[in-house]
Amino acid sequence: MVNWLNKVIKAGERIKAAIRKRATKEELAKSDYVSCCKGLVSKKEIANNFHTCPYCSKHFKVTPSERFGYLFDSGIYETFKTPIPKDDPLGFVAVKAYKDQLKSARKKTGLDCSMVVASGEINKIKCTAVASDWEFLGSSIEAAEGESILFAAFHAIENRQPLIIVAQGGGMRMQASMISLSQMPRTTLAINEVKAAGLPYIVIMSDPVAGGITASYAMLGDIHIAEPGATVAFAGKRVISGTVKEELPADFQTSEAVLKAGFIDRVCHRKDINEEIGKLLSILLKKNSISTEDINETSEDTQQISKTA
Ligand SMILES: [Zn+2]
Repeated sequence: MVNWLNKVIKAGERIKAAIRKRATKEELAKSDYVSCCKGLVSKKEIANNFHTCPYCSKHFKVTPSERFGYLFDSGIYETFKTPIPKDDPLGFVAVKAYKDQLKSARKKTGLDCSMVVASGEINKIKCTAVASDWEFLGSSIEAAEGESILFAAFHAIENRQPLIIVAQGGGMRMQASMISLSQMPRTTLAINEVKAAGLPYIVIMSDPVAGGITASYAMLGDIHIAEPGATVAFAGKRVISGTVKEELPADFQTSEAVLKAGFIDRVCHRKDINEEIGKLLSILLKKNSISTEDINETSEDTQQISKTA
């Protein structure tokens, strides 16, 4: 018994020592565990719980396919190929060449850009949605991502579908300078077209949402839902603290704090987002439950939204 206990204690110490020596990114990716509230939590347990911690509700980052699987009814959806403009027209090189960064991001994620556009049903309402992959250069925005949002906006308008964007990322991709920054007005104009067509536009904020993303399409929704604990900001906490020369509250720029400040409408656990959006859409479209045919055939209900929203 004592022997057995000793073995367990020693194994625990070895794990702790491994964590203390700071495992490399590769080692962490290969491990079956992640470090969370209870020390080590199994990745399987987290994956089975919508990629959230079952003990503290920490929301881990998900890929677009995992996101769409949770977002759409029964996890059924189709994805679209969106335009990919010419890579790296500025020939930008810093510590690494931007071209090489793009190459490794593509290899890592299997995606051409950080965003994926999909269509599927939520509460039996056919919707167009956009989600991005954090592993693709931190979900930052460049011309290809701008094209994805434009594609999604026009797909929503042509097919009379509500638009849902999962906003995530630190902002515009500086390797493309003005080309990236110009995606802010481009995506804003595209969202305005969705609104002019009388279609609902809902934003889901997933950790973190910051910079030019917050300053453009992420804050233009009819409804803003954030996942618990997500950072929702423009400039980062350290920059603000350094500017105002004040210590900021621990929950500064979290979903819960920005909800209290009236900046967003809801904080919602990932497992409840399908149901929550389903309810919101049925209210916005003034239907208890609506079929794809209903929304495609009648634009009367959706037209009313633009007057009331
Ligand atoms: Zn936890």
